[in-house]
Amino acid sequence: MTTVPAQSSQIYRSILDVVATVEPRIADATAQELSDQRASLKLIASENYASLPTLMVMGTWLSDKYAEGTIGHRFYAGCRNIDTVEAVAAEHAEALFGADHAYVQPHSGIDANLVAYWAILSHRVESPTLKRLGAATVNDLSESDWEDLRREFNSQKVMGMSLDAGGHLTHGFRHNISGKMFSQHSYGTDPETGLIDYDGLRSAAREFKPLIIVAGYSAYPRRVNFARMREIADEVGATLFVDMAHFAGLVAGKVFTGEENPIPYAHIVASTTHKSLRGPRGGFVLATQEYASAVDKGCPMVLGGPLGHVMAAKALAFAEARTPAFQTYAAQVATNAKALAEGLMKRGVHLVTGGTDNHLVLMDVSNFGLTGRQAESALLESGVVTNRNSVPRDPNGAWYTSGVRIGTPALTTRGFTAAEFDQVADLIAEVLKSTTPAVGPKGASKAKYVIADGVAARVNARAQELLDANPLYPGLEL
Ligand SMILES: *Cc1c(COP(=O)(O)O)cnc(C)c1O
Repeated sequence: MTTVPAQSSQIYRSILDVVATVEPRIADATAQELSDQRASLKLIASENYASLPTLMVMGTWLSDKYAEGTIGHRFYAGCRNIDTVEAVAAEHAEALFGADHAYVQPHSGIDANLVAYWAILSHRVESPTLKRLGAATVNDLSESDWEDLRREFNSQKVMGMSLDAGGHLTHGFRHNISGKMFSQHSYGTDPETGLIDYDGLRSAAREFKPLIIVAGYSAYPRRVNFARMREIADEVGATLFVDMAHFAGLVAGKVFTGEENPIPYAHIVASTTHKSLRGPRGGFVLATQEYASAVDKGCPMVLGGPLGHVMAAKALAFAEARTPAFQTYAAQVATNAKALAEGLMKRGVHLVTGGTDNHLVLMDVSNFGLTGRQAESALLESGVVTNRNSVPRDPNGAWYTSGVRIGTPALTTRGFTAAEFDQVADLIAEVLKSTTPAVGPKGASKAKYVIADGVAARVNARAQELLDANPLYPGLEL
């Protein structure tokens, strides 16, 4: 990571002093968070470190403006600066991804998905009720009109990747709003290879006839062939919606090209900005011309007023992602993930699909006699921050799990190389081999564990050496 501009330390010290005049505990927690982030080996696949300009612009009065509506067409007066901010962010996003249209208002990845779902429903559902009512206002609807409307929109079908295969809650999981809005049928992975079974997906889609096919994942360690996804969608008349929340940085950084780049194949794409893309916490939607005007109705149909300060930060992050330096970063994220995967496998750690070709790795820790929860806790105690995750057809369910998900975007931002990721693999393997389930009166625990004496301290010390060699925001001193 490059050294921060000299004045940054003074700026942040002053900001924290001002914050402390209102509530010192918030100033303290903010400062502590930087120390904690610096001191942890962050392998959480969905996290990263945004640049200081991106963080700085969020602390401004752009937050104070209401700007419901779209650029140049707002429900509030006095929006010219927010218009500029939103237009610049959209311009960078369109150029970065080569998309027809970008909508940068969504507040998070889930909000972006809801905008996408709503845009598809409003564009695709032929509602006899709305047609019959014509220009009638809401007040003219009878109780039975309302019932008809809800029935027409709620009977739609979506097909997404199942949660235990690596899909996201919003892809139709039964406890999520998406599973209640839609009738859903999920697709999984092949039990032998762990890869998406496109032929199985195709025959299921032919039978189920979904309105929407969702491609994208949170815990699938492989690339997706979006050309094949689009072929299947076209065959059954479905809209192809790609949720690239996790891997947007690899698309932006031109690691995923050709049939692995979703933009030319999807009708609509939603994403976060804070994962591999390394921007502020937020979301956005990319759309073909066909869906552009439906997407623009995100606020106020699905979203609250846009966050001007965050759209400004998105503009900076998109601009940063258009540089050659970001392409180098994205390529390194993938190289590092391979080094991490190979380092783990050669030390006896089992990986779902037997490797990775994106930014994440899903370990199956059951051969160590551990649950994901025990492995996650033992690693945390040793200074390695990960998150437990179910593996396909997980016998331990979604709470204890049998897997641990790790990823390379954050530590690659700090400057970690492939050789250093091999060291990270060594630390992880050492902890897993040295941990056993705690045994109580009722037998082996699924949560409690014992680490062999001295291992946690030794791993912590080695992790600290790696972190010290790759400082976070070097030069920033509070
Ligand atoms: C992280 C993620 C989301 C949700 O993003 P939030 O910003 O937390 O709302 C949606 N979809 C996928 C695939 C994700 O990985």
